[in-house]
Amino acid sequence: ARSDEGGWTGVNERTFIAVKPDGVQRRLLGEIVRRFEKRGFKLVAVKLVKASEELLREHYWQLRNKPFYSTLISYMSSGPVVAMVWQGLDVVKTARKMLGETNPADSLPGTIRGDFCVEVGKNVIHGSDSVESAQKEIALWFRQSELHRWESSTKTWIY
Ligand code: GDP
Ligand code: MG
Repeated sequence: ARSDEGGWTGVNERTFIAVKPDGVQRRLLGEIVRRFEKRGFKLVAVKLVKASEELLREHYWQLRNKPFYSTLISYMSSGPVVAMVWQGLDVVKTARKMLGETNPADSLPGTIRGDFCVEVGKNVIHGSDSVESAQKEIALWFRQSELHRWESSTKTWIY
């Protein structure tokens, strides 16, 4: 149910996913989108963006004191990223499972990071780590008017 602005939970839960610059440059976008579609999630927003350092500093504010922070900001601003919002039952947690671990070396085959990368500093994709982070990240990357509400004509007989 919709609790408040952006406050979707349960079946209408939303998460923020970004294909990072290496993922875009390696033409992994279609493969990644395909996995989310086939899992059964609904795309409610998508855009190709060259993120500003200001936006990235806000996005990664919790990591501001980490030794890799400046490397992370320059990596993320090195080229366009594909910012997306996906919606569906437990999408935040499920998407994190689909991504794999932060370090690709710890990510199982079958996960996005486990299948497509080897280095923590070039790990292809971002996914929100909690419903609360998802709400903040969606509000940071998207205007309300960019979030689309639509229903599948097959809704009544599939789910
Ligand atoms: P995530 O939620 O799995 O993306 O991981 P974190 O929120 O902990 O870190 C954010 C991002 O920072 C990761 O996805 C990596 O791109 C990067 N990162 C995390 N740890 C390291 C590290 O030890 N070295 C480098 N170079 N980048 C890192
Ligand atoms: Mg994180």
